Amino acid sequence: MQTPAYRRVIVKISGEALSGPEEFGIHQPTVDRIARELLTAHALPVTLGVVVGGGNILRGVSVSEQGVSRPTGDAMGMLATVMNALVLEAAIERAGGSARSMSALAMPQVCETYERQRALRHLEDNRVVIFAGGTGNPFFTTDTTAVLRAAEMGCDAVLKATKVDGVYSADPKTDPTAKRFERLTHQEAFDRELKVLDATAFALARDTRMPIIVFSIHEPGAVAAVLAGKGRATIVE
Ligand code: UDP
Repeated sequence: MQTPAYRRVIVKISGEALSGPEEFGIHQPTVDRIARELLTAHALPVTLGVVVGGGNILRGVSVSEQGVSRPTGDAMGMLATVMNALVLEAAIERAGGSARSMSALAMPQVCETYERQRALRHLEDNRVVIFAGGTGNPFFTTDTTAVLRAAEMGCDAVLKATKVDGVYSADPKTDPTAKRFERLTHQEAFDRELKVLDATAFALARDTRMPIIVFSIHEPGAVAAVLAGKGRATIVE
């Protein structure tokens, strides 16, 4: 069995990752694959929390451009993250794992409300906790939520699943000279203005000295490989 390099982590999965080959919405085979990947990582063993985004359904900024207020648009965005959390929770349970969604927005008929102590207990009881509803506040993102929950849960790192296998000096899809980084400090990433997380999330990661590991969700087995310290990823610490 592999020895994990990290014992307790938050995996941040963007909404976009759940739409798989589609432009929008939830692609069930992709959700099922991600659920299996998470369970393989969980079995290393690693204590696992997941923060899901909502961009596959709705983003507050886009809604507010249509005339809805930004706080209302962001409330809609946070609701989208709850839908994604529920579909991921169901997929993890179907795959034989135990998962619990906890929303920062209270909706007790739908899922548990986020409470730090209860979340810690679920993690200790070996459940995968899916943190839904973002931070519960408008003007924030689920990247910030991932760093916040990681700090609250005493995690060793945030694993940020993206479309590419790490942090690059430029967009590797459009710039063939883009350089990929293996390891960076928070300060280096800041000084070079590299896009690791959005500015608020990055500031919190720097303040809390939270390592951020950027990897590709399209790479099969990537979550477990990264946790074992073997996967292809950029480590910012
Ligand atoms: N959101 C918010 N507060 C938070 C987290 C998220 O208002 O703390 C809203 C915001 O409108 C955002 C949407 O939820 O656009 C979806 O989150 P995000 O854009 O981070 O999702 P991702 O890009 O990861 O899919």
